[in-house]
Amino acid sequence: MPSGAKLRGCLIGCGFFAENHLSAWRDLGAEIVAVCDIDPAKAAVTASRHGIARFYSDGDEMLARERPDFVDIVTTVSSHRPLVELAAKHRVPAVCQKPFATNLEDADAMIAACEHAGIPLMVHENFRWRTPMLAVGRAISEGRIGNPFFGRISCRHDFDIYGPQPYLAEVERFAILDVGIHLLDLARFYFGEVASLACTTQRANPRVKGEDVATILLRHTSGATSVVDASFFTHMHPTPFPETVVEIDGSTGAARVLEGYRLQLTEKSVVSMTSAEPRPAAWMKKPWHDVQTSVVNIQRHWLESLKKGSEPATSGRDNRKTLQLGLLAYDAAASGQMLKVLA
Ligand code: NAD
Repeated sequence: MPSGAKLRGCLIGCGFFAENHLSAWRDLGAEIVAVCDIDPAKAAVTASRHGIARFYSDGDEMLARERPDFVDIVTTVSSHRPLVELAAKHRVPAVCQKPFATNLEDADAMIAACEHAGIPLMVHENFRWRTPMLAVGRAISEGRIGNPFFGRISCRHDFDIYGPQPYLAEVERFAILDVGIHLLDLARFYFGEVASLACTTQRANPRVKGEDVATILLRHTSGATSVVDASFFTHMHPTPFPETVVEIDGSTGAARVLEGYRLQLTEKSVVSMTSAEPRPAAWMKKPWHDVQTSVVNIQRHWLESLKKGSEPATSGRDNRKTLQLGLLAYDAAASGQMLKVLA
């Protein structure tokens, strides 16, 4: 693929979150030539709002006619496998939203289909691309806090996410597969692979079907310990949604992402405090701006990976490891045991 070429994409799933993807593709100079939704009215409205020439209600027809350089799948999890397999059938490189799947069999089938077709597959796992999270990753890789041996990655609020995402109140497996999966990915990003984990889950809000509180203890193969915790029923005012608080202790220092996007670094007893809040682009809306900026960042990474022919950081194969942790967390909660992560 020529590195200067403008890439042509198609998008499937014109719902709540696709708005962010489409605005980000525009900012990045990728041309979305068509969108698709099983609800044709949604596809039509989205195409018109974003000045996109064509819209479809059938992904198969869209990929056959448009022959894009990539397809961006922004649907909820139950349609991920058929749509990724469709991308593989048309040999179109694919981005797939998280959670990748609800079981490893589907994840393996998607990975195998894309490998067989010779196309790259990236899971849109964007939390490691959030501005404060990137800053912590840099501090660790530059050796500024020494060897990280303990961490806590936490997201707790009571923001009404059920307004824009009503399906979240209905799913049996909620907190771990929705936000927990992002936090587990951050734990892997900072501390590497996981050897074993334990978990407790709670349903604090009687209005939702699944667990809305989860606490996961991870033992990493490096020897580090981390705690990942999420709650959708934590009553703090103003609610810190969608901020993610991070504490990392290293052998020579510490890194903290505190509420208000404050990044505190302690390096050999010298403490610095800086702002890690991204400056929002015109289309972004607070409090979503950090998440929206991360969408731009991960989609930029996808375009660069596609042009270079390199594997994206959160490829299907990589993200299977994060999904495996999320699924194992449910088993650990049910058994009350610390469970080993099988290779
Ligand atoms: P949504 O229900 O608002 O939108 C999904 C759209 O996909 C709907 O319009 C639906 O009609 C369409 N669709 C479903 N199956 C289809 C098919 N086979 N072909 C064409 N269209 C199809 O959902 P949403 O809230 O936009 O969430 C979409 C995904 O984004 C979810 O997986 C969610 O977990 C994820 N999400 C990620 C983040 C993040 O920060 N990464 C934030 C919010 C949502």
